[in-house]
Amino acid sequence: QSQRIAFLGLGNMGGPMAANLVKHGFSVTAFDVSKPMLESAVANGCRRADSAHAAINGADVVVSMLPHGEAVRSLYLGVHGLLQAMDAKTLLIDCSTISASDARQVIAAAGERGIDAIDAPVSGGTAAAAAGTLSFMCGGEEKALERARPVLEAMGANIFHAGPAGSGQVAKICNNMLLAIHMIGTAEALQMGVDNGLDPKVLSDIMRASSGGNWSLEKYNPYPGVMDNVPAARDYQGGFSVALMLKDLGLAMDTAAGSASSTPLGALAKNLYQLHGGDPINRVLDFSSIQNLFRRPVGN
Ligand code: NAD
Repeated sequence: QSQRIAFLGLGNMGGPMAANLVKHGFSVTAFDVSKPMLESAVANGCRRADSAHAAINGADVVVSMLPHGEAVRSLYLGVHGLLQAMDAKTLLIDCSTISASDARQVIAAAGERGIDAIDAPVSGGTAAAAAGTLSFMCGGEEKALERARPVLEAMGANIFHAGPAGSGQVAKICNNMLLAIHMIGTAEALQMGVDNGLDPKVLSDIMRASSGGNWSLEKYNPYPGVMDNVPAARDYQGGFSVALMLKDLGLAMDTAAGSASSTPLGALAKNLYQLHGGDPINRVLDFSSIQNLFRRPVGN
């Protein structure tokens, strides 16, 4: 690969994504405001940059994987923003989950400088990020997506063109609202079974093969002891945090308000995650820890 990539944001998702780009032969220069995250990216073969501006210097493609819209806006926009320093030939791929309006604003500002840009949020979680099997939901012009495709293919298995700028974010937020709903539904069904004497593993096998089957049951069982290699098997450490799920449910509710869509289950899911995340200890746990909202102390 002759393309040079600047990768900004090397957290739970960005870290393994950048590592896959290195494995596919891209030259990757990395920057993260967190030193430990940057160190582990360097250990995975990325070059170290001491600032975002240093990272994008000479890059053909800039990929960002940041926590929220505010981080993306402050990085790219404004007089000190990266867009001012980027060459018109650079391709910008933002993989963060942010509002469609923030994505459109960044892509439009890039366009004013002649820079091709797409929103490309992902689905699949940290395991898919590590395996290089993410799904990318892209918004933007066809020609920008075609330029991005070889880079995305090194990190993912499915690449969807959802529509014009911001459409990837709309698809992502619809998906994550549904994810929150079926995760909560899975947790409450498992608890009711356990409360009535069932083994959660046996009940999970039954429901997976029946009409209640869903991704939370198949890939991400929230009940401890049912599956290995999921956050429930390690006290809900790592994975996709309750704080990030709350952010996405907030985006979903804003989206619904903007289009006057009725999303009663999404609203309830947000409420339940708010209740769960009210305790700061829970906010950093994986979102499948919502199971704890339903679990009872032993003996009750
Ligand atoms: P994370 O908090 O683990 O990582 C974000 C990283 O960005 C951190 O290392 C942080 O230090 C860094 N950062 C923040 N501001 C920065 C800046 N200005 N410059 C450089 N680095 C900066 O979050 P994550 O779990 O990797 O998620 C990233 C995005 O992907 C979020 O928008 C999230 O909603 C989305 N997402 C996460 C998952 C998941 O399973 N974790 C799945 C799909 C999508």
